[in-house]
Amino acid sequence: MPLNYTIKNGVITDGHSMFLDNGFIRVEDGKIASIGKAEEMKDTEGEFIDAGGRLIIPGLLNPHHHLYSRFAVGIVPLGPTDKLSNILKNLWWPLDRVLDEETIYYSALSGVLDSVKYGVTTIFDHHASNNYVRGSLDLIKKAFEEIGIKGSLSFEISDREGEDVFQKQLEENLIFYQESVDSILTTGMMGLHANFTLSNDSLKAIKEAKPERMPIHIHCGEGREDYDFCVDQGFRGPVHRLDQFGLLNSSSLLIHCVHLSDEDYRIINEKQPVVVSNPESNANNNVGMINTEKIKDYIVGTDGMSGNIIGSYRSHFLRRNGAVENPADKLFRRSEEIIKSAFPECGGLQKGHPADLAVLDYIPETPISLDNLFFHLILGFGAQKTYMTISEGNIVYKDGKIQTVDEEALKKEIKKAARKLQGRFYE
Ligand SMILES: [Zn+2]
Repeated sequence: MPLNYTIKNGVITDGHSMFLDNGFIRVEDGKIASIGKAEEMKDTEGEFIDAGGRLIIPGLLNPHHHLYSRFAVGIVPLGPTDKLSNILKNLWWPLDRVLDEETIYYSALSGVLDSVKYGVTTIFDHHASNNYVRGSLDLIKKAFEEIGIKGSLSFEISDREGEDVFQKQLEENLIFYQESVDSILTTGMMGLHANFTLSNDSLKAIKEAKPERMPIHIHCGEGREDYDFCVDQGFRGPVHRLDQFGLLNSSSLLIHCVHLSDEDYRIINEKQPVVVSNPESNANNNVGMINTEKIKDYIVGTDGMSGNIIGSYRSHFLRRNGAVENPADKLFRRSEEIIKSAFPECGGLQKGHPADLAVLDYIPETPISLDNLFFHLILGFGAQKTYMTISEGNIVYKDGKIQTVDEEALKKEIKKAARKLQGRFYE
């Protein structure tokens, strides 16, 4: 696969500060060597790829995914799903208990394959497999490396399987984080399931074991139960509880943030953690929505619902609760900052950064600029699959075909593994 090439004849934008009606991107050794207007393009060696007037944006970030949820499609829960705690007890927890080496790997592979088709080149995954803890993140890492995109991986720590499993979960996060220091494609976070599945002693143990720079990744105020649990323990809400245990800073990932107190909002405003809203999951679980009047700086994730991040932004906009200010700013500028915090020297369309690009299968017909870009994406492009997804200069997906692996052969294995997992779920 050529790592030196020029993509020409594209509408190119980083979504916040650069916009070229007709531009080119020169890729050398997998990195962005130059970007400019068509008339500035020099004769260079290597292949030319004609984008045919399509829209080219930076590779997208999905800041909250559960790749193993790919194998949950079609499962009938074991009992009522009237509230979040029952959805967990009757679907997600029994499912994660039957994941094994084979199904962790193939579900991750399936989720990564799905994501790259939607232009995603970086995924923050939140994993759980409580009967196969140690080594689980390495299996997911293997899937990322085979397809060739970036991942920040973590295991959801909780008390629900007892002290022994808790210790294994903590160790899995710590070991993976330390091992990933020199990795190009993967890094680690400290995954926590949620406040209501972690005791005060557990939060204390996590704080003591965690390197200061290692960010937490936690479901926070997703359902009313999470909020009530924290208040019953004497805290002023789920964000306040995390803050009281010294776990909160500007690199923390707080997922959902639906059921919060005024004190929680105040702390978010002061400490500026990364807040991730997941509109499709919130609708599916009927838990409510983020209050965008109280939290203005947030980004959007898919929470295992799909790999389609622009689709998730579209859902967020369509079911908004309050004004959505500068949606393109969240999708591009803020996402770029967050990619950089996990993978320094990556993100955006800067010269010298790895060429992580999404060439959308969309040729704008109506006038397009930075001001209306978001609406071109959700209404014109329509949150479809890309024409081409490029990661680290490698063309991973082009014209409906995955380029880095034999997808057809893998799909056979993926299907076999998914069947085995669903069989075990009902046993
Ligand atoms: Zn989640």
